[in-house]
Amino acid sequence: MSFQDDLVELRRALHREPEIGLHLPRTQEKVLTALDGLPLEIATGERLSSVTAVLRGARPGPAVLLRADMDALPVHEKTDVPYRSRLDGRMHACGHDLHTAMLVGAARLLAGRREELAGDVVLMFQPGEEGQEGARLMIEEGVLDAAGARPVAAYGIHVFSTTIPRGLFLTKGGPVLAAVDTLTVTVRGRGGHGSAPHRALDPIPAACEIVTALQTHVTRAYDVFDPVVVTVGSFHAGTADNVIPDEAVFEATVRTFSAGSRDRVKEGLVRLARGIGEAHGLSVDCAFGNGYPVTVNDDAEAEFAAQTVREVLGEDRYFPLPTPATGSEDFSYVLEQVPGAFLVLGACPPGRDLATAPANHSAEAEFDDAVLSDGATLLAELAIRRLARA
Ligand SMILES: [Zn+2]
Repeated sequence: MSFQDDLVELRRALHREPEIGLHLPRTQEKVLTALDGLPLEIATGERLSSVTAVLRGARPGPAVLLRADMDALPVHEKTDVPYRSRLDGRMHACGHDLHTAMLVGAARLLAGRREELAGDVVLMFQPGEEGQEGARLMIEEGVLDAAGARPVAAYGIHVFSTTIPRGLFLTKGGPVLAAVDTLTVTVRGRGGHGSAPHRALDPIPAACEIVTALQTHVTRAYDVFDPVVVTVGSFHAGTADNVIPDEAVFEATVRTFSAGSRDRVKEGLVRLARGIGEAHGLSVDCAFGNGYPVTVNDDAEAEFAAQTVREVLGEDRYFPLPTPATGSEDFSYVLEQVPGAFLVLGACPPGRDLATAPANHSAEAEFDDAVLSDGATLLAELAIRRLARA
């Protein structure tokens, strides 16, 4: 069977049997089987079913890390591909099955080219990207020290089922994905009769004032070229027109593109909410739920990755990513500690309209596995060329 056909078979086996979260025993088993016989030092996770594989090059040198996430989503698949999910309510709707197969492919290519390797390659097969902080847990369990020394660079690829032409790689230096946090604000007053507000302490007008003030604050306090998005998506208070409630509660999603604005927005929003509450004699509780940090590519590593795509696959296979996207990724935790680059890869199946094809996370999302061998080749070349430069 050809290299590409083999990866397609693995990808489809993963796709048929998706697993969610940090514990992916069947997925882990498939990866271990696929890596079997390669000259790798393999370790599995304790708190999650991760696989860390180290390939030692023929010559000594530093280490480079390549990462794939492996988890699926709680989505009921509605495609009619022959390899669709056999499990109700679980689907590889974000293409992580392709990422896993591409990294297995890279492992095979690299194992065959060990003589060229001046250093080590750490292969990071990660569960729990979809909100369970799998990358952070793997870092805590030592993935960044798996080869002995900290990697000098780290790379990852994410496929997209829409918008991007099939086979096109995009990246950029600097922020590529947002940090996402949740702000919950509880405004506490004192309930009473709607006819006599002076005998109560009404939390509703103050909470409304805070909601609008948040938007004003965002437009006045942050650089427009380092954007901040605050959206209040839920607001709850009261039960009837003539009853003043004790409290009003709202939740906002907060998206930022730099660590600096992320820190400042947390402080700024809380100060504003508390200050407005205090002005009305109310108490305000603010709670931040931390999501993933900003995914920031190293400028030089992004340029190196772009150059590698152009040299290995062709000039027309690369396009600069025009702006960051507002989604988030836990590969950000790796890129906080190791300079590297995260690339996106178009995988919209032929025959689908790029503009309207269902997006990642949709029950109808489809990813074309024709991109697998190129993805694997690129990962392997990034490692070989980066080690040759170090
Ligand atoms: Zn994803």
